[in-house]
Amino acid sequence: MSQAHSYAAHAADQPLAPYTFERREPRADDVAIEILYCGVCHSDLHYAQNDWGATEYPIVPGHEIVGRVTAVGSDVSQFRVGDVVGVGCMVDSCRHCHPCEDGHEQYCLNGFTPTYGAPDRQDGVFTQGGYSDKIVVNEHFVLRMPEGIDLASAAPILCAGITTYSPLKHYGVKAGDKVGVIGMGGLGHMGVKLAKALGAEVTVFTRSEAKIEEARRHGAHHVVVSTDEEQMAAVAETYDFMLDTVPVQHDINPYLGALKYDGTHILVGLLEPIEPAVQAFNLVFKRRVLAGSLIGGIEETQELLDFCAEHDIRCDVEMIDIQDINTAFERMQKSDVRYRFVIDMASLKD
Ligand SMILES: [Zn+2]
Ligand SMILES: [Zn+2]
Repeated sequence: MSQAHSYAAHAADQPLAPYTFERREPRADDVAIEILYCGVCHSDLHYAQNDWGATEYPIVPGHEIVGRVTAVGSDVSQFRVGDVVGVGCMVDSCRHCHPCEDGHEQYCLNGFTPTYGAPDRQDGVFTQGGYSDKIVVNEHFVLRMPEGIDLASAAPILCAGITTYSPLKHYGVKAGDKVGVIGMGGLGHMGVKLAKALGAEVTVFTRSEAKIEEARRHGAHHVVVSTDEEQMAAVAETYDFMLDTVPVQHDINPYLGALKYDGTHILVGLLEPIEPAVQAFNLVFKRRVLAGSLIGGIEETQELLDFCAEHDIRCDVEMIDIQDINTAFERMQKSDVRYRFVIDMASLKD
């Protein structure tokens, strides 16, 4: 065992505070990692505050982890001490069900093991995430950071990036397709960059005129202000795909109307019931598809990291010290972040 230093939530209504705990010794197929950077995801905040009712305290959040290998188990073949690596939202899965065998561990029939907040499959110890100085992870769930990638801004690729890339790939977005991206937060701004890099013509849908310039800066070809009925009417039956990153309930019917026949509306942000209700005729009369998608598999995440390095795609990040994490959470709740906080873990030593 080795001591890990971290920031943890100790109760739903308390700020995160320093916390020391034990990380396991690497097993034969484990990689031990010194954490350099960790992105701050909305899920971290929800989990720390027990918004989903499943939190066991104390909990160390963080699942956008970039670090350096410090030790490897005797059976590890893919990584060596000194390698720069990443860990995303998953640290294990059953590895034998058919989604696992397909490389889609996020849909594991026996439930994947999240990076924080669930019992380890072997020893039952609750997993703890990346707001810490070290982590030990099975090599199958460790990603290789490609040569030349900017490490700090790459951290959010491991959640925000893969969440948008996986459905774009799965549904076959290709050069010339018209893709709408709804919402311009951490997920949305990555969706714009990735869809554009895949060759699509990208339109951002935003409620806020203030975001028009930013959307263009991220590479959007067009921007539609979704509260403007005239602008929405002008884009009826236009898009092949709609990537919907909005995490709160919203009326998707106007966006369904903006899809071509056979178009696909993909939900990646919403976990609540759709409200107002979906008007089925919007689907039926145009053979449109309403779909959902969750993060992405390990192989696909590696493909994305390599893709981002090749196309120089970066998440826009604001670097913070770990001591600023509670302020960062407060700002995230007000959507006051462009577009992801990333913790410089060197600050943990202060
Ligand atoms: Zn996340
Ligand atoms: Zn499985």
